[in-house]
Formats: sequence, structure tokens, C-alpha cells
Amino acid sequence: MRLSQLFTKTSKTVPADETARSAQLLIQAGFIHKEMAGVYAYLPLGKQVLDNIAQIVREEMNGIGGNEVSMSILQPKDIWEKTGRWDNEKVDNWFKTKLLNGTELGISLTNEEPITDMLHEFISSYKDLPIYIYQIGNKFRNELRAKSGLLRGREFLMKDLYSFSRNQAEHDEFYEKAAEAYMRIYSRLGIGDSTYRTYASGGIFSQFSDEFQVLSDVGEDTIYVDENRRIAVNKEVFTDEILTQLGLNRDELVEQRAVEVGNIFPLGSKYSDALGVYFTDEQGGQQSIIMGCYGLGISRLMGLLAEHFADDKGLVWPEAVAPAKVYLARLGDNPDVVKQADELYNLLTAADIQVLYDDRDVRPGEKFADADLLGIPHRVVVSDKTVSSGTYEWKRRKAQAAEQVSAEQLLKTLGIDA
Ligand code: ATP
Ligand code: MG
Repeated sequence: MRLSQLFTKTSKTVPADETARSAQLLIQAGFIHKEMAGVYAYLPLGKQVLDNIAQIVREEMNGIGGNEVSMSILQPKDIWEKTGRWDNEKVDNWFKTKLLNGTELGISLTNEEPITDMLHEFISSYKDLPIYIYQIGNKFRNELRAKSGLLRGREFLMKDLYSFSRNQAEHDEFYEKAAEAYMRIYSRLGIGDSTYRTYASGGIFSQFSDEFQVLSDVGEDTIYVDENRRIAVNKEVFTDEILTQLGLNRDELVEQRAVEVGNIFPLGSKYSDALGVYFTDEQGGQQSIIMGCYGLGISRLMGLLAEHFADDKGLVWPEAVAPAKVYLARLGDNPDVVKQADELYNLLTAADIQVLYDDRDVRPGEKFADADLLGIPHRVVVSDKTVSSGTYEWKRRKAQAAEQVSAEQLLKTLGIDA
């Protein structure tokens, strides 16, 4: 993409109504636009990051047998009444709306009920199970306080998967596979070392749920980390009795702030039974379906990654999610410079490397400041100097100084076999 064609602009002014560094930087860099508290638009570069995160999540969910769907945002009330979750006393962060004739509707905050109810059509026999269904879509929650930009929104992007198994053993096996897939996702995003599978409060069917918590000063949660076992316990279940049960030693645990980037839950047959979805076993008997749900906050992860890697110059994206791999800064408009920069842009683009081509008529200092603020992993400069010396100037986002490199070295560094 050519920056001369990008409608967004960077800004030097720190937004006064955002306290989180990630939200400030994402707005200043033109990745997101705040529409109101807890509600953001994703601008071209921000949308690219969000899509890149979603794609990693999609690959890992497909890898464990997930079927991707896109459920509706508007939901009928009756299925939520059947499970007892329509009442505002039970679920306090619903957004609801009404048809013109007065019929009440729910606005998607999660999806157990609609997805399970849909399965009346598709499940009858044991041969139809197990199945795993997921979607990547916006969720709406009337959070009391929207906080820290993308970390706690009222409209946000979530991946939610639901598993339907024939018995507890089959469920347990998938549950562990899903937990492993989650850890692979966080590793691919570059935060594997800071992420802990964490014992948290469960529901009616299980004593615990499993949260995935990333250590961070901006986190809302307090967890107790066992560094040797690489697990943690959420403060909400942190009692002597539970520590003993888990074989954890209080003296070896370190208290930390953390951000919850995923939460997986055994559900038993609570929702499938309530909605009357069963299967028949080999003997023709009616059996309950054992469910699990697996949530992962994609937009929250974008905010977390922004927060986690940023430095005093701006954003720093891991290559796996960066909106482009290369920031190509063309200095001046001398025809030889334009020609060399255009040629490099075309060559990289043809090799499927995403490039932000800074072809704007602005000062070099401004281009360098923007390259840093946007957090693109590699910066390449084409100028009178590089053209006359037959080299390129190359720098990684966090390197102190740029280096002069040959075309061959540059292409090799960027992963192209010349
Ligand atoms: P939290 O404890 O942070 O309120 P939750 O336990 O209600 O979240 P789940 O229903 O388990 O969240 O949702 C799955 C994931 O979606 C969470 O692990 C989190 O990463 C993300 N998420 C939840 N609420 C929000 C929100 N308001 N804004 C952004 N992401 C969210
Ligand atoms: Mg949670």
C-alpha cells in the first residue's frame, strides 16, 4: 500500500480521553478511531492487524477440527428463557432491542443458546458427534466501565467455539487439545512466555474454568504464578484449600497483574438438556450431549500486543500480526530514487511481502517518526545516497542504527531467495 493513498494520518497529540498507552498509540498511529467509550472503528492498518490475529486463531481452530460459522447478532428471546439466561438479574450486561411489534430480541453477547438450538436440525445419532463449531464475530456487552481502549470494550471481536461430545472422556480429550491450541496461538503472537493457563472459577458443572492470562501492569486480574509449573491461580479461587488440592505451595507463588486473553469452560449438559438437544446411542437410548465453550478475545489481544511491545517511540508489532512487514521510505523525488523505490516496492509486493510505501512528499524526519510510531518490523530507505552507493539502508524497528546493505542482503533478510 502507498501511504499517499491512505486516508488516515498519524497524530502527535496524545488523546486526552484515553489513559491506556495502547489506546493512545493505536489512535495516534491511525489504527483505530474512537466512536464512543468502549466502541472503536478499525481503520485500514488496524483492520489488517485484527485480521492477522484472527487468521492465526482460525488456523489453530481449524487444526483441531473446528467448523467456522457466522451466527446472527440478533437473537430470539425464547431460547435464552429456556436456559434461564434472559433475565437481567442473571446476566447483567445484555444489550437488548425490540421489533416494531414489541417482540424482544437479544444482541449477541455469547452464543451457547443459538448454536446449540440450531443443532436440533443436525444431530440425532451418535454418528453425528463429536462436533466443534466456532465463529469470529462481534460481541456486545453493556460493560459498566469500558476500560483501557480495546482491552474492555462494549463492542469487541471474539472467537467463540463450542464443543459437543458424546461423553465426558471425549469432552475431556478435546478440552485439552483446545487448551494446547490456545497456547500455540499465544506463542505465534509472541506472548507465549508471558501467558499462563490459570485456574479460575467454574460453573455448575465444573469446579474450575481455565483462563489464559498474560502478565501485564494494565491487567484487571490478579493471579498467583507458579513459574516452575508454568501455571497460575486466579485470586477469585485463591484459598488454602484449593492450593492444597492443586498441590501448590503458597510460598512459591508470585502475585501478578494480568490480562485475560482467553477463557475455556466445561459446560456439562446444562444448555443441551435445557434446549432439548439429545442424541441416540448405539442401543437406541437417548443421551445428553456434553458441551464446552472456548472464548478468545481477538480485539483485546490487539490492545494487549500494542501495550506489551510498545516503546517510547511507538508501536512495535510482532511480524506475525504487523500490518506490513516493510516500511519503505523514499526520500525525495529525484527520478533515480523514485525508480529504485518503485522497483523495490514492485519486487517485494510480487513476492507477497506486505509493504507500506512512504511515497509522500514529507520530510525524512517525519517519515522515520511515522515508521517508528506505526511499528512496522523492517524499515528500508531509498535516497540519493543509497542510489549513488548502490545499496539500501535497512533497520529493524528496535535497532538503534540503520545499516547499509546490498540488494542481495536485503532480500535475504526479508526472506526472499534472490
Ligand atoms: P472478563 O472476565 O474480562 O470480563 P469474561 O470472562 O466475561 O471476560 P468470556 O465471556 O469468557 O469473558 O469471553 C471470552 C474472552 O473474550 C475473554 O477471555 C476476553 O479475552 C474477551 N472479552 C471478554 N469481555 C471483553 C470485553 N468487554 N472487551 C474485549 N474483550 C473481551
Ligand atoms: Mg472470564
